[in-house]
Amino acid sequence: MLLELDHISKIYGSLHAVDDLSLTVPDGEWLAIVGSSGSGKTTLMNMIGCMDTPSKGSVSLEGRKLEDLNATQLADVRKNLIGLVFQKFYLVPHLTAVENVMVAQYYHSVVDEKEALAALDRVGLNDRAHHLPSQLSGGEQQRVCIARALINCPKLILADEPTGNLDEKNEKIVLDLFRQLHKQGTTIIVVTHDALVASCAEREIMLNHGVLVGEKWNDDDARAKYEAAGGKPASTGSTAEGAQTGETAIGFADPTKAAKTGGE
Ligand code: ADP
Ligand code: MG
Repeated sequence: MLLELDHISKIYGSLHAVDDLSLTVPDGEWLAIVGSSGSGKTTLMNMIGCMDTPSKGSVSLEGRKLEDLNATQLADVRKNLIGLVFQKFYLVPHLTAVENVMVAQYYHSVVDEKEALAALDRVGLNDRAHHLPSQLSGGEQQRVCIARALINCPKLILADEPTGNLDEKNEKIVLDLFRQLHKQGTTIIVVTHDALVASCAEREIMLNHGVLVGEKWNDDDARAKYEAAGGKPASTGSTAEGAQTGETAIGFADPTKAAKTGGE
């Protein structure tokens, strides 16, 4: 398994932002995390992405427990294994598109403008490379972010509401990029409210007030492969009503509609 979450919780005072979640994600899976606003999706992503640590339980990436790593090793995991895409773009405003991509190269290895331009070309932005973020549409800015996330060829893409600020046309462009990446074997974990975006993933899990309340496979072949490799359903030790505690997944009939009702 690429990612293993073993009974992880994130607790703020009396609030369990994520409550005792266990989940495994194999190499190459495309997983969606759905749930209404405040259900703990971003908190969960931050723990997977080495940006936050669980209050309890442990996170393993490629078999290495993150809690056993020192700060340097953690930073290495971040930059070598993970590509991040956010709803808010976090582009540096006074740098051009290509320079924003080169910043990511700088932190990883060496800057290479040709490579950065090729990454922008891949997301269909070759003619926007020398524009500032303020001169780009929301969809274009998000594509710069994806080029930035891809530049170091991460094994795992973590995307938090990547299409949250996009119109339908740009949402489709982003989804097509994810499809390509998935085909090439990249593991993708995407947080989303969007019915269409969630349904593109092979599997969806749903959180409610930090608690896992459902899991649904959209791709039967992927499911069969996962189970044949010994993969278990996601589960929680939470005793909240509706919690998915057992060895069997609680499906959710119309997850995307339910996911949407929260709104954000
Ligand atoms: P989502 O991404 O699903 O909207 P979040 O993970 O952002 O949800 O938040 C889950 C819950 O945890 C919310 O109730 C939020 O207010 C709370 N929360 C998130 N971060 C903090 C923090 N740093 N301190 C206290 N509470 C937090
Ligand atoms: Mg969030």
